Amino acid sequence: MAVIGFLGLGNMGVPMVNNLYKNGHLVKVFDLLPAAIAKLERLPVTKSASAMDAVANVDFVISMLPSGAAVEDLYLGGSALLSHISPKTLVIDCSTISAESAKLVAAKAAEKKIAMIDAPVSGGIAGAEKGSLTFIVGGEQADMEKARPILMSMGQFVMHAGDHGAGQVAKICNNMLLAVHMIGSAEALQLGVDHGLDPKVLSNIMLRSSGKNWSLETYNPYPGVMPDVPAGKDYQGGFMSKLMDKDLNLAMDAALATESTTPMGALARSLYGLHCKDGNAELDFSSIQKRFKK
Ligand code: NAD
Repeated sequence: MAVIGFLGLGNMGVPMVNNLYKNGHLVKVFDLLPAAIAKLERLPVTKSASAMDAVANVDFVISMLPSGAAVEDLYLGGSALLSHISPKTLVIDCSTISAESAKLVAAKAAEKKIAMIDAPVSGGIAGAEKGSLTFIVGGEQADMEKARPILMSMGQFVMHAGDHGAGQVAKICNNMLLAVHMIGSAEALQLGVDHGLDPKVLSNIMLRSSGKNWSLETYNPYPGVMPDVPAGKDYQGGFMSKLMDKDLNLAMDAALATESTTPMGALARSLYGLHCKDGNAELDFSSIQKRFKK
């Protein structure tokens, strides 16, 4: 059993806290929004009055925030939260942010002798609820091993990507590839349908051929092909297009930083940007299928 300060009670944070509690940990929570804290009203976790209270006397601090700006503001901003964290506490940031932000905050933490790892997740809200997230870790391997039992209370896999920031790089590489095969699957399905093929039949053929991929296999974007995926529910739930757009923007920033060539990622970013502006930001990212419909 560990004592954990958890900051950021959004779509991901709430189910993650639930799983920490179910696994016997003592959790102290805080969010800037009282309404977010109220979502945990019935769970016997400590509702802290401030981030400073939540990080006092804990073994681990976990943050799950919307952006790099939020993470930098939390740890390095006005409240100087790092000054309130004991060097005995391990800080785990699970937010998806740029590698630069992750490295900056970890370096500032190190100046105060506080160990920190970046541990962004794959698996989305469903994975957070089921406790089946994959944590993609950047930082010292020994710190990851210390965090492993806590992360395994919320997930199934804990993988080391490299030094500080590497978890973030691996996460955006994965999501850039995910966007590309989702768009590719959607356009291939529509091409088949436009030529009179049944999308179920075409999906089965491609799943036994070289076009097989995760989007097609477990998250088919064409309505009616698969039960229990967002495409079967008007693209409600799942991983919102605006979050995919955010991750693609991070991927493009990363590509610029190293002058890497990512033409498919750039196209995916443009398509998801357009898709969001056209009113689909809150729909699951497989709703990109709609752009190809005649
Ligand atoms: P969200 O917007 O639902 O929740 C973020 C929460 O953080 C909000 O309640 C907000 O009030 C709170 N917050 C912001 N600044 C804070 C601060 N300084 N102190 C305390 N609380 C603060 O976001 P989410 O969907 O839970 O996602 C969280 C992170 O996980 C993001 O970085 C996102 O990219 C990543 N992620 C999300 C998904 C998903 O499917 N939602 C999947 C994988 C990764």
